[in-house]
Amino acid sequence: MLNIDSLERGVVIDHIKAGKSMEIYRVLELDKLDCSVAIIKNARSKKSERKDIIKIEDRIDIDLDVLGFIDPNITVNIIDGGKIVEKKKLTLPARVVNVVKCKNPRCITSVEQELDHVFALTEKGVYRCIYCEQEYQPQ
Ligand SMILES: [Zn+2]
Repeated sequence: MLNIDSLERGVVIDHIKAGKSMEIYRVLELDKLDCSVAIIKNARSKKSERKDIIKIEDRIDIDLDVLGFIDPNITVNIIDGGKIVEKKKLTLPARVVNVVKCKNPRCITSVEQELDHVFALTEKGVYRCIYCEQEYQPQ
């Protein structure tokens, strides 16, 4: 059982928008880990807004680019010896593969099921499907 208050060694993904933790759990494929993973939903943050937190009881390599795509406000802290030893900075990735699906029904990805769903960051800061140019609309 993972003690969520005193993590000795691991990774804390903090400031997740309330309700988004399961999406991150799925995208990072945390279900495939052998170590303990704790999801805290609707925690109170300092600004009294609700947030989700994910605590992983191991030092795993997290795909930070994907987190930056989902929500650049997320923070990632690396914990060792019960203390934060590193705060990771998130940036917007140049492209994301198989994180979100293209919603254009005429896109080739809706016909060719085996194709990767690839979105590329444009100069305007929006993501577009590389096949049909459909803009990704975050919910
Ligand atoms: Zn498309």
